Amino acid sequence: MDYENGEVDGEGEAGYNNSHRAFLQAFLARSVLTVDEIKPIFAAVQTAHGRPTLTGDITEPEITNAIHTLNSRLSLLDLEIRSTRSQHQDRTLVFALVNTTSDPLTQAATTRTPEEIAFVKRVLDAMFEENNTPNREVMAVQRNRALQLARVREQRQSHVNEHDDEEENGTATQTQTIGITIPQAEKVLRDFVSEGWFEKSRAQYYSLAPRALMELRSWLKEVYNDPADDESGEEAVVRIRDCEGCREIVTVGQRCGNRGCGVRLHEHCTQLFFRGQRSGERKCPKCKQEWTGSDFVGEKAVAGAGRRGTGRVESEEVDDEDE
Ligand SMILES: [Zn+2]
Ligand SMILES: [Zn+2]
Repeated sequence: MDYENGEVDGEGEAGYNNSHRAFLQAFLARSVLTVDEIKPIFAAVQTAHGRPTLTGDITEPEITNAIHTLNSRLSLLDLEIRSTRSQHQDRTLVFALVNTTSDPLTQAATTRTPEEIAFVKRVLDAMFEENNTPNREVMAVQRNRALQLARVREQRQSHVNEHDDEEENGTATQTQTIGITIPQAEKVLRDFVSEGWFEKSRAQYYSLAPRALMELRSWLKEVYNDPADDESGEEAVVRIRDCEGCREIVTVGQRCGNRGCGVRLHEHCTQLFFRGQRSGERKCPKCKQEWTGSDFVGEKAVAGAGRRGTGRVESEEVDDEDE
């Protein structure tokens, strides 16, 4: 490798050096990296600069320091490297290069057609509205259902205004089919998985991957949570909730058994959270009801609803008629 000949291979201004450059290049190529993917990159750069380093020698604080230095530069470009842990039991530490200003669907517009973006929005609506009701917080959408959303019939009201001065001015409803083809939808879903936005489970459910959770954090709440409206007296609707332990969004985890209670915890956060409470005597910190550990958020909530003997159609129009 031919790194900037003549430049001193040491600390540049503010400690920014070739390791940081190489690190940033890796992020520009991949966008999402796990801690185990970062370590060998670090080790290779150090070794290339005369400090033979093994992957196993790289520590998490070293990585965190490097990211800190990088972020101070990236902020000028409205970019930031964020990290989060996977919501699954492995708790893998994941880093992603995140755009801090424009909303994610606007960013996607540089690589996707408007029709593809509209399809992705319908898939997100299916995750966070259709499959996320007070009784069933699945927050994931099955592949078949996602593909049904490729093409949708849209009703358009067009104003009929032939007789300006008559009362009969009315609206005509036109129905048109909009969207993308099934193969196009399949490709978008495949790309979203390989780019680290979506995860696909064995049972063919799509859900948000760590990259999306990092990047969509505030957007999801803006779009899917409705604040209470004092004037109309409407109560707040909270579809996206944070973990009581780590304060990150929960789309896979546990919920309080009390349907009216908003406390959620990641599976692995329960251990830390209830430390000090004897297991079997775990109580919800808000409503004090016993914490069951068997009320779930995520794909497991599908089975959970059935287990309660209330049937699959527990809440409104959640199920596909054609299955
Ligand atoms: Zn948590
Ligand atoms: Zn509770």
